[in-house]
Amino acid sequence: MPFLCLPEEGEPYLVGQRCRSCGAVYLGERRACSKCTREGPFEQIPLSRRGELWVWSIVHQSVPGVPVPYVVGIVDLPEGVSVRCNLIDVEPDPAKLRFGMPVEMTTGVSQQDREGNDVVAFYFRPARG
Ligand SMILES: [Zn+2]
Repeated sequence: MPFLCLPEEGEPYLVGQRCRSCGAVYLGERRACSKCTREGPFEQIPLSRRGELWVWSIVHQSVPGVPVPYVVGIVDLPEGVSVRCNLIDVEPDPAKLRFGMPVEMTTGVSQQDREGNDVVAFYFRPARG
C-alpha cells in the first residue's frame, strides 16, 4: 500500500499528490498532471479520512480463499480524489448500501507476507456519528 501512511502517532491516512501548478490532487505517484499537463512539481498532502461512496458493487465470486460476498466501491474524497477500496462493516445487501452515503477510512491486517509480517491495508466503512 504505497499511498497508505501509518504514522507512529495519530490516525493512518492516505497520501495524495497535489499539483502545485493547478492544485489537482491524485492518489499515488504521478509524473505529469493530467489536468494542466505540467510535470508538477507535486507535493504530498494527507487526504481526508471521510468521503462519499460514489459507486459500489457486491462481489459474489473471487479467487479461492477469499470469502464472498463482499462489497467493493469507489469513494470520492473532498480533495477530488476517487479511491477504489473494499467496504467493511456493512452487509453485502443492496438495501444497506446507497450512493453518496458517508464513509470513513479504517485500516486492518489483510494478510501476511512470506516473512510473516502483517500487511496492513485500508478499507472504508459507513461513517459513524
Ligand atoms: Zn496540474
